[in-house]
Amino acid sequence: MLADKDRIFTNLYGYQPWNLKAAQARGDWDNTKDLLARGQDAIIDEIKASGLRGRGGAGFPTGMKWSFMPKESKDGRPSFLVINADESEPGSCKDREIIRHDPHKLIEGALVAGFAMRARAAYIYIRGEYIREAETLMAAVQEAYAAKLLGKNACGSGYDFDVFVHRGAGAYICGEETAMIESLEGKKGQPRLKPPFPAGAGLYGCPTTVNNVESIAVAPTILRRGAAWFSSFGRDNNKGTKLFQISGHVEKPCVVEEAMSIPFRELIEKHCGGIRGGWDNLLAVIPGGSSVPLVPAAQIMDAPMDFDGLRELGSGLGTAAVIVMDKSTDIVRAISRLSYFYKHESCGQCTPCREGTGWMWRVMERLRTGDADVSEIDMLWDVTKQVEGHTICALGDAAAWPIQGLIRHFRPEIERRIAENVREAAE
Ligand code: NAD
Ligand code: SF4
Repeated sequence: MLADKDRIFTNLYGYQPWNLKAAQARGDWDNTKDLLARGQDAIIDEIKASGLRGRGGAGFPTGMKWSFMPKESKDGRPSFLVINADESEPGSCKDREIIRHDPHKLIEGALVAGFAMRARAAYIYIRGEYIREAETLMAAVQEAYAAKLLGKNACGSGYDFDVFVHRGAGAYICGEETAMIESLEGKKGQPRLKPPFPAGAGLYGCPTTVNNVESIAVAPTILRRGAAWFSSFGRDNNKGTKLFQISGHVEKPCVVEEAMSIPFRELIEKHCGGIRGGWDNLLAVIPGGSSVPLVPAAQIMDAPMDFDGLRELGSGLGTAAVIVMDKSTDIVRAISRLSYFYKHESCGQCTPCREGTGWMWRVMERLRTGDADVSEIDMLWDVTKQVEGHTICALGDAAAWPIQGLIRHFRPEIERRIAENVREAAE
């Protein structure tokens, strides 16, 4: 179990105030000027050496992403950092806790990361439903300006850097990085085709990096404590500490910072008081937020909770939003409900997603009630394969994968429903 001294988020539960004075007492904004004095390339090298991978779900190496940003401005165009606080993935609630209780970690991280990638400003795009969190964040930004930590000559470093908070309006798709950029520009939030990636052409056509809240908030601590310290947790390719958000049928749902690669059983025993009704009562787990396939109980028990360990099980770490389902769960209904979510949130821009999400949900509903033919299970599988990989953004994949996980692991349950419905109809 991660020792308290190795936790980055020391105020995750809000036992202390979030304000600047309390944050400074916890070590934030401590000689930030000295961190910046190390220079842009040295900061990026340190983040690369730490092994930090993006905490928003995709796990792209953070230092490498920063290094894609131009070192010189072309045609006088500024560069921007966009911080993705549009946390909307069902099951995910870690960025909310950071913003509520530790907003200065994020704001200091914005300055350090923005400086490293030579950005002029950071835009923090926060989901519209996070009303109180947005208020806290804006108040914390104001505190940082008042203390001259942001703005002209930020922290006395000679570097000018602004932070803007932008509130979303409730669309899940605006969490996709290029849809977020469109939304920031005042347009309808619809994803762009990639490439070009944002580092080439992002906000207002300028070089832009989009990073998740957690990825940015951990950066100052990594620089202070060193890449070697951060990479001492986890295992190769899966380094560092990580916020896990455990919901569902555990005794005590929680958000907790742990070492990457902690085995699933240990995570649940140590922090959640075990599975409701005991371990024999566990049915399945969605380990990384609703966009990744479920894993049945027998397979996940001893799995390392990291990118590679969960990929080997045909799933993924995603945002590390661990949704635990015990045997009382109607698993077909649960996945059908997720299908409805993706159908509802599709931006409608590309045909496989616009038509496919609705089609998949309607078939899922028939499988749920048993009012279907067994052959439709294979047909649904085929439809998921037609959607997967054939859309502009990852929402299409996200809609397909949970259904694939269900069919892969719970086909007998679907067939049982169909058989029982046929029997009932005949009686
Ligand atoms: P992605 O793999 O396309 O990209 C990840 C990041 O790496 C992006 O910033 C992208 O620009 C960058 N990148 C990838 N290849 C690159 C290249 N060749 N050159 C330069 N940059 C490159 O994934 P994505 O669509 O950004 O994210 C999908 C993930 O988002 C899913 O795994 C899901 O778990 C997660 N997600 C999270 C939430 C949330 O609430 N946090 C919501 C929905 C989805
Ligand atoms: Fe929009 Fe879906 Fe296409 Fe993404 S995959 S661009 S959400 S229609």
